[in-house]
Amino acid sequence: MIKGFRGTSLVDYPGKVASVIYTYGCNFRCPYCYNIELVLPEYYRDLPDLSEDEVIEKLRFRRDFIQGVVITGGEPTIWEKRLLFFIERLKFDVSLPVKLDTNGSNPKFLKLLLDEKLLDFIALDLKTSPERYREIGGNFETIKETLDILQNHKQMVEIRLTLYPGLIDEEDLKMLLPYLKPFQKIALQRYIPEKNLSGKPLTPYTHEKHEAFFFIIRDLLPEEFILKRY
Ligand code: SF4
Repeated sequence: MIKGFRGTSLVDYPGKVASVIYTYGCNFRCPYCYNIELVLPEYYRDLPDLSEDEVIEKLRFRRDFIQGVVITGGEPTIWEKRLLFFIERLKFDVSLPVKLDTNGSNPKFLKLLLDEKLLDFIALDLKTSPERYREIGGNFETIKETLDILQNHKQMVEIRLTLYPGLIDEEDLKMLLPYLKPFQKIALQRYIPEKNLSGKPLTPYTHEKHEAFFFIIRDLLPEEFILKRY
């Protein structure tokens, strides 16, 4: 389940020094994804596995100077029960707050984690307008289910939008607005052109274009709810 571990990060868990755990495998194929090694089987099958025991030991070693753990991927929720058991160990053996990064494609499992009070923060990546989800192998109905669940936990939810020119434009963002309305942390992220799944990185939007995205959301939500990462 785990292919990577970073001991210390200052940027992956808002307000906390955290370790980051990388699971492998993903059910989406976002063209801008740079985690190719964790998404494509032909890459990840050659990466060594890290056992859950090894990771717990690494966290125990760092326990005095980290304040949380981030689980990212790939898409961690594809691991379901195995991930649940691992998070239980993080909460009860190492006693650390847990942040989960997800593409939102597994609402039932996410609800289970929330009902069991196993998560402290969730970052949900919204990719594009509902009808364009099929371009990345997704189905917006499941994403909508996830958004409905997360509305009841909005204090601990960040919705992230990576502004990739090949997947989201201003019209796509407008289609997402009704789904963003209930939330209090919306992060607009610059897409970084580097090696990615598409094989041909696009030029990122200009600063002016990013500002245009910002203004679309600002018409709906208070400015302090919108995080600019561009
Ligand atoms: S959901 Fe995340 S890990 Fe999966 S392909 Fe998209 S960006 Fe990559």
